[in-house]
Amino acid sequence: MEKILNYIDGELRAPLSKNYLENYNPAEGKVYSYLPDSDADDVHEATLAAQSAFRSWSSLPAEKRSAYLQKIADLINRDLDQLALAESRDQGKPVKLAKAMDIPRAAANMSFYASAAIHFASEAHITDTQAINYTVRNPIGAAGCISPWNLPLYLFTWKIAPALAAGCTVVAKPSELTPMTAYLFSKLCMEAGLPKGVLNIVHGLGSKVGQAISEHVGITVISFTGGTVTGKKIAATAAPMFKKLSLELGGKNPNIIFADCDFEQAISTSIHSSFANQGEICLCGSRIFVERSLYKKYVDELVKRTKALIVGDPFDEATNLGAMVSEAHMNKVLSYIALAKQEGGKILAGGNQVKLTGRCAGGYFLEPTIIVGLDPQCRTNQEEIFGPVVTIMPFDTEEEVIMYANSTSYGLSATLWTENLKRAHRVSAQIKSGIIWVNCWLFRDLRTPFGGMKQSGVGREGGWEAMRFFTEAKNVCIKL
Ligand code: NAD
Repeated sequence: MEKILNYIDGELRAPLSKNYLENYNPAEGKVYSYLPDSDADDVHEATLAAQSAFRSWSSLPAEKRSAYLQKIADLINRDLDQLALAESRDQGKPVKLAKAMDIPRAAANMSFYASAAIHFASEAHITDTQAINYTVRNPIGAAGCISPWNLPLYLFTWKIAPALAAGCTVVAKPSELTPMTAYLFSKLCMEAGLPKGVLNIVHGLGSKVGQAISEHVGITVISFTGGTVTGKKIAATAAPMFKKLSLELGGKNPNIIFADCDFEQAISTSIHSSFANQGEICLCGSRIFVERSLYKKYVDELVKRTKALIVGDPFDEATNLGAMVSEAHMNKVLSYIALAKQEGGKILAGGNQVKLTGRCAGGYFLEPTIIVGLDPQCRTNQEEIFGPVVTIMPFDTEEEVIMYANSTSYGLSATLWTENLKRAHRVSAQIKSGIIWVNCWLFRDLRTPFGGMKQSGVGREGGWEAMRFFTEAKNVCIKL
């Protein structure tokens, strides 16, 4: 069985402990490869490599850094099919989704920051006739990049690319649940000739590798995407060391449907925003609020279309929902469905585990689930479930739905459906989320700032925000 290796100082290395963890294919419920059970010693080696590569990488002309990133983007595109298959095998998602979204976006991340590297600029301020100030932005040093399992290569590259473009070197850790595409990515970096030590990838558990990255004094900036509880732990470790932190955390996003919406667009997009990637996207709209006059029509139609979705083998082109990432996560989602019933919820679609036959007989599959009859304040509507489960609730007024939308501790994204332009602006202004989509969902322009409010995170990714994050600003003031 294949053994994944760490990528440290330009070469593939076994973990120093020689210990490995099992890597499951969740669609089959079987181990299909092994990944390094690395620890603080491997992180230390990776950090030394990143520190020693920093001087030459940060002083390389931006055009040359850009060329490396673009070469890696080209190699991702070349290997799109192989990477999509690996992503699907690791994570359980339909391979067609990985081909259409995850892997093209990973290539786009590398390409975007290849371009950003050469277009990045800093500011100058003329203070009347008295002085000229100019800002110098220098890369900080060795950066720690820690990513989750739900969009593995997409989110991994979303952190690594701006760090490298800004001139930082990197110690990165993918999720232990989905290590394969990061491993294939390390091979592409070697093929692209990326200088040794510029990017180091250490596989293993969050409690060992992630914790060691947070603690290491040689890593001065950390970009993390994952759960809010983990984000708090990282902040508790890294903040007293005055490390610069970007934390992209969980969500409980509202999907608000006004009666004047384009009904067909709202319904067909709601199917995606509820159940794409088995609902395992931090931006999924898990709380749907529908204006009362449209409530029955919307619920009936969403239930009808949800029941028509196919839960199946991720390798099958017809499949809409693949496997949940792990048995433990499937059971967590099932426990929330049980909680919803205890809280008085009525299941209108789904609610159960799906048992497939053949290759996927041992896999972790769930029906897409719609629940109604719950109070916006109950636990089901307050806590992140991160699965194919949505609740639908009616509302009467704009004020009421804004209050509901803002009533959780999260503030990642929100979606509004209305043909009334003034209302779209008015409501968007009052919702406390880092991104508001009006009449669309998951539409991304990589130049825009991305991130959450409240317990959905601090810091912003995307565009120059991310480039700035990986640099330190210094002002030079020249008196005229
Ligand atoms: P997680 O927090 O369990 O793990 C994320 C990463 O952190 C993994 O690589 C893990 O190994 C590592 N980790 C775990 N413990 C650590 C520790 N003590 N120190 C350092 N690193 C540690 O999250 P997950 O289950 O992999 O991902 C799902 C979560 O991610 C959801 O809450 C989801 O909303 C969130 N998410 C957020 C965004 C966003 O952009 N805001 C995007 C995707 C996912």
